[in-house]
Amino acid sequence: MRAMDPKLVENARITLETERARLRLELSEEVEHPRVSHGAQTAAATEVSESQRGQQMREHEEVHLAQIEGGLQRIEAGTFGMCQSCGKAIAPERLVARPWATDCVDCQSKKRR
Ligand SMILES: [Zn+2]
Repeated sequence: MRAMDPKLVENARITLETERARLRLELSEEVEHPRVSHGAQTAAATEVSESQRGQQMREHEEVHLAQIEGGLQRIEAGTFGMCQSCGKAIAPERLVARPWATDCVDCQSKKRR
């Protein structure tokens, strides 16, 4: 097994921590400042679809945050950069673009239907 480039790991850690801070801020802001509802009947339909979109975005952000936490945990555990499915090293270009990736490109494409 080949050791990860420490510089790549360090850069990934910075990316992950920055992204985690951003997502936490966004998620906390949405909780503290809920969308104010306007009473007008005509606007009701629009408001529903807007809040659904907000909900979906929020769920997406929560999933992404969990992926980021996982990436940071793998850095701590020293398993960062290893594919969780096949155990091979994930391509460095992939880790630079998506440091939260848990699978190599091959396994990721197999998972995708
Ligand atoms: Zn793999």
